[in-house]
Amino acid sequence: MRQARIHDVAIIGLGPTGATLANLLGAMGIDTLVVDREPGLLNLPRAVHFDGEVMRLFQNMGLAESLAPHLRPSSGMQYLNSQGMLMLERKPAAVSGPQGWATNYLFHQPDLEGTLRQAIQRFPSVCVREGVEAVSLQTTPQWVDLQLKPITDAGRAESVQARWVVGCDGARSIVREAIGGPMIDLGLHQDWLVVDVELLEDVELPQATVQYCDPARPTTFVNVTGRRRRWEIMVMPDDDPHALLEPTTLWQLLSRWIRPTQARLVRSALYTFHSLIASRWRRGRLLLAGDSAHQTPPFLGQGMCAGLRDAANLGWKLAAVVQGHADPQLLDSYESERLPHVHQFIDTAIRLGEIIQTTDPDVAAERDLRFAREGTTEIVNLSPSLGPGVHLGTAPAGTLPPQPRLSDGRRLDDALPANRFALLTADPASVQASPVARQTLERLDATLLHDDALAPWFESLDARHVLLRPDRYLAAVSDTVTAIANWPIDHWHVAGTSQANSSGQTPD
Ligand SMILES: Cc1cc2nc3c(=O)[nH]c(=O)nc-3n(C[C@H](O)[C@H](O)[C@H](O)COP(=O)(O)OP(=O)(O)OC[C@H]3O[C@@H](n4cnc5c(N)ncnc54)[C@H](O)[C@@H]3O)c2cc1C
Repeated sequence: MRQARIHDVAIIGLGPTGATLANLLGAMGIDTLVVDREPGLLNLPRAVHFDGEVMRLFQNMGLAESLAPHLRPSSGMQYLNSQGMLMLERKPAAVSGPQGWATNYLFHQPDLEGTLRQAIQRFPSVCVREGVEAVSLQTTPQWVDLQLKPITDAGRAESVQARWVVGCDGARSIVREAIGGPMIDLGLHQDWLVVDVELLEDVELPQATVQYCDPARPTTFVNVTGRRRRWEIMVMPDDDPHALLEPTTLWQLLSRWIRPTQARLVRSALYTFHSLIASRWRRGRLLLAGDSAHQTPPFLGQGMCAGLRDAANLGWKLAAVVQGHADPQLLDSYESERLPHVHQFIDTAIRLGEIIQTTDPDVAAERDLRFAREGTTEIVNLSPSLGPGVHLGTAPAGTLPPQPRLSDGRRLDDALPANRFALLTADPASVQASPVARQTLERLDATLLHDDALAPWFESLDARHVLLRPDRYLAAVSDTVTAIANWPIDHWHVAGTSQANSSGQTPD
């Protein structure tokens, strides 16, 4: 029998993607249930790097200060050949990059996830249930029925309902299975061994992340945070994977850098790095985000970042639909915008993977010659345009603009209400004089901001008026405010008008 309470949103999976989405929905007052089969924080660090865009997202979630003690700006990343020649380089992080934060950060994943989980407690509309597995789901025209099973009491399943279900349930997603559709296979699948250690004494190790592109044994070294260090070691065809996990083998593999008396083995695990994208991210009331939607080999440190971008893109759209400001069709722009975006990151990670994963000595020699001839290539942070969706379509619309400082020294986003549209103008008089501009501000419940310090920013965007979306991507840029004001955002209603979709029929 159906229970009385139907949650607006159920999130399956409280990894970094689910925890970010829960924070965003909570901040917008959305009734959200989050379940994760793990009884507590998974103490398995995987991600170690995120970029300035992700830090800007944390800023907008009100978490920059609480995260800061757990982060360190990156000291760069180097791709070295077996003779130590620098082939590719990501420079050490600029202290203040285009996003208003360092360009790249290193962190310990449990620290980050702990902070995200703690932060969810700020929001009474979000209920988190750990140690509870979603075992099956069934969609009806009005809601989704979820079967949940506590992991401690295998016998007692229960049924809960939600209008929308987001599968943040990782690579083996049951939501993806329910949505159906093949995976887009981009071709890279490779086993790697990951070893995390804690230093017991000072050891001379690189500050930067180093990708040792040695065909005999491709290896990545990461100076994480504090005394944590990470090696990722490619599994070679002759390796016995189980023997690799033996402490004696691990120390032998690390002997080039460190001795057993100098560090404690924290954990070792085998992973297969994949390059996959789900071909379908939404079916009716079911959606995917994070590793359930895409898996990125970690050579660029971008898999988790992509999941967090999903959450930022989906959060405000889902809230708008739940609150009746938009039709469910708005949610189709989530996949159309995000899929081509993440595709570019995965393509780049694959190209880097091809460089480090070269194991044929002849191919490696050709590669080395090419870099010797062409010189070191710089790896810069990617900032591609979103695919078609809720923006004017031509760049810079659809891109994430830099975050400048305002006259009072604040970062731009700190002056804007979180999770809302904002119209930034170099010419406030023309906005006030335009009835259609005022109507648009009202329709989108948008903030209007003018600040003299933004003049160079407008110049760089070649515009006098800019409409920022709640996720801070550019919706529209123009010299005339009417061009922005007349832009019809598909599927958007007047702010505050409640539509039938929350309790309505199947929203395909
Ligand atoms: C070695 C390695 C290094 C990496 N380095 C980086 C890096 O430097 N930077 C970066 O950005 N990314 C990196 N990544 C990728 C990153 O770790 C992942 O992309 C990220 O953790 C995915 O987050 P997620 O929340 O989408 O999924 P997950 O972290 O997989 O979380 C899914 C959650 O769902 C829960 N769950 C699953 N099914 C169910 C169910 N049926 N019911 C209830 N709960 C369920 C799980 O318990 C889990 O908590 C790396 C990955 C690896 C393996």
